[in-house]
Amino acid sequence: MSAQKAAQVLAREEHPHDEGDLSQQSHEEWIFLNRNTLDIKLLREVQDALRRIEQGSYGVCYECEEPISAKRLDAVPWAKFCVSCQERIAAGAEMGHAEAFQEADR
Ligand SMILES: [Zn+2]
Repeated sequence: MSAQKAAQVLAREEHPHDEGDLSQQSHEEWIFLNRNTLDIKLLREVQDALRRIEQGSYGVCYECEEPISAKRLDAVPWAKFCVSCQERIAAGAEMGHAEAFQEADR
């Protein structure tokens, strides 16, 4: 959704008695809210990365404590895991063992 579209949705919210296609409006709102949720998740990842920079642990894999490749950090600056650990975690998540894996990490 473009910023302009988002502004339109929000403007309509402020004028609930305006004529308009309600089903279309709620669909747009759903997309807008959904996108916001994703943005918040991403924001948390970024904040986490910033904290790691402050603590001096940025760019080190949480799992194997090896440096994360510059190429990976270039693509995903907030990456917590190196490529091989990330792939292992993703594989575990697919099998439904993601939480068990994270527990074992602590
Ligand atoms: Zn690793």
